[in-house]
Amino acid sequence: MGWLTEWRRKRVLQRHAIDAALWKKSTRGLRFLPETEKLKQLALLFLAEKEFSGAHGLAVTDEMRLAIAAQACLPILELGLDWYAGWRGIVVYPGDFRVRRRDVDEAGVVHEWDDDLAGEAMPGGPVVISWDAAAHDPYINVVIHEFAHKLDMVNGAADGLPPLHAGMDARLWAAAFKEAYDGFCDALERGQDTWLDPYAAEHPSEFFAVISEAFFEHPAQTRRRYPAVYEQLKLFYRQDPA
Ligand SMILES: [Zn+2]
Repeated sequence: MGWLTEWRRKRVLQRHAIDAALWKKSTRGLRFLPETEKLKQLALLFLAEKEFSGAHGLAVTDEMRLAIAAQACLPILELGLDWYAGWRGIVVYPGDFRVRRRDVDEAGVVHEWDDDLAGEAMPGGPVVISWDAAAHDPYINVVIHEFAHKLDMVNGAADGLPPLHAGMDARLWAAAFKEAYDGFCDALERGQDTWLDPYAAEHPSEFFAVISEAFFEHPAQTRRRYPAVYEQLKLFYRQDPA
């Protein structure tokens, strides 16, 4: 059905355009976004193909939709919208939201607890975003973070290894990320300043999502601190933001 998708996309681009004033308003403060026609067109297609809904009575405005779309499209700017295929929904909460977790340990004991989250990405399901975190938290980019998880999930589980392109070397990827992740966890344990959000230590998949935020928002710093990882991300995202 590739031709049908292509035809639909062409029609969307012929018939619609992003309002310049709305773009300006929505991306105000998002200085890492390139102001290119390519990003605007991709955001337009994203808006046509994804479905936003507000939770807890939140009315999702055009400005919110576009701010999320523009940032979500940055990681796939050179990959294409098909990397976000197979799911449709984006749920926006006014603030952090509480989810019930359940886990059964090796002894068969059931553990249940509540987590307060700024975002969540479900395999084959929606992306959930806290608007408060997206708009006001200067230390995280919850949109890029959750959509990086979506890319990681394209080949199954979120494990910090998205599907690599032909010509990329999975061993180089694994070596670069393992060294960076181990070093990061060590530094955190020793109480050293880690620069990246400490949440990156939770799991290799979180490290990938957090360092993807840094790759796009603070590329020069990321390249200086994590040159081998930067090189792999550059090959994967097909962008060199630094
Ligand atoms: Zn995460």
